[in-house]
Amino acid sequence: MIRAAQDAAQATRDFRPEEIGVVDNTEPLFVQEASVHQREMKLRIPFESPRGRFDTLVRFYPSLTFRLADGSLVTGRGECSPLSAPWYSYECHNSVATALGYLIPSLTAGGPGQAPVTGIDSFIRRYRWVQGHPTAKAGVEGAYWDAVGKIHGMAVSRLWGGSRQSVETGTSLGLEPTIQALMNKVAIAVEELQVARVKVKIKPGRDLDYVAAIRARYPAIRLQVDANGAYDLFRPAHLATLKRLDEFNLMMIEQPGPNDDIIDHARTLAGLATPICLDESILGLAHARHAIELWKQYSDLTKLVINIKPPRVGGYFEAIKIARLCFLNGVSVWCGGMYESALGKTANVHFSARAEVDLPGDHVSLAPYFVDDVADSPRYGAGRLRVPTGPGWGLGHPRGL
Ligand SMILES: [Mg+2]
Repeated sequence: MIRAAQDAAQATRDFRPEEIGVVDNTEPLFVQEASVHQREMKLRIPFESPRGRFDTLVRFYPSLTFRLADGSLVTGRGECSPLSAPWYSYECHNSVATALGYLIPSLTAGGPGQAPVTGIDSFIRRYRWVQGHPTAKAGVEGAYWDAVGKIHGMAVSRLWGGSRQSVETGTSLGLEPTIQALMNKVAIAVEELQVARVKVKIKPGRDLDYVAAIRARYPAIRLQVDANGAYDLFRPAHLATLKRLDEFNLMMIEQPGPNDDIIDHARTLAGLATPICLDESILGLAHARHAIELWKQYSDLTKLVINIKPPRVGGYFEAIKIARLCFLNGVSVWCGGMYESALGKTANVHFSARAEVDLPGDHVSLAPYFVDDVADSPRYGAGRLRVPTGPGWGLGHPRGL
């Protein structure tokens, strides 16, 4: 019984920054000014969704100016990267604008006499009363880390305990109406961009034949699929299709079933040889713990992978905690993308510099997402992106912000 209680305590513990190699700020920081720049950005390739086609995305850039004890001022910026409508989660342009209307005033509440921020926990405590809205919160937290990096003269990746100078990166390819259309895109990704791995979206009816065609032409590439919850884990025909994907030596099947059903991903799919990756199901450290406990019970932890998107879990500190918990349990992780502009993408690259992030992320696309971006993306070559080394995000002053 005592052993069981100890195991449970280990499984439910939180992490403090110093326990997980994060260099936090301990100087008193006074929030001088908090604001948001909002920018409608034209997509180079329109975003296709089941409900239509969209040419632009709005990106929100929280900006925080801190006053230090010596009176000097430092400004940091983050990015909120919602989709235009609530397809991926309940968050969208409108929900992020609404949430920022609560988050930003919370940072300056108390006026000039407010107590200073003395670390990430005291920063997050200011807006923790707002329930949900992880994408909005991640953008606000990003501004904090950018500022702290500038104060310490360090790249954010180093603040976060990242040791890599470059990170492996793959690409994510959307659903295509024909196998040939998909193969044309796979060819660019593999032969021209030389990405570290290819991920393709699947759904019932556009799965086995598409994956088989890629495997026939490229037997050795690292390949994974993402279903965004399109399969019914109680429908025998769907389960049979997922089992047949074992024939293609995939790195993982990402989010085959519903977002709110972690248990059937563990239990019902335990018979698959291919690891299952959770994306939409994991909204924070607690869900990662639930998944780990369920895979221990019903499956095998080598068959669990977690796609950590900082905007989906409410910020970078939570993302780092999830990465650490997974590492301690032998679970592989990687960092997915949400159509971030160069600022948000760079933040994801800094996060991916941590050793626990051991699989390639979704950081490159066949063409830049936006016609006119706010900064240059990190330098790419042969499946790797350089981690910027300058203070903060290492981007200099973003254009137009
Ligand atoms: Mg996904």
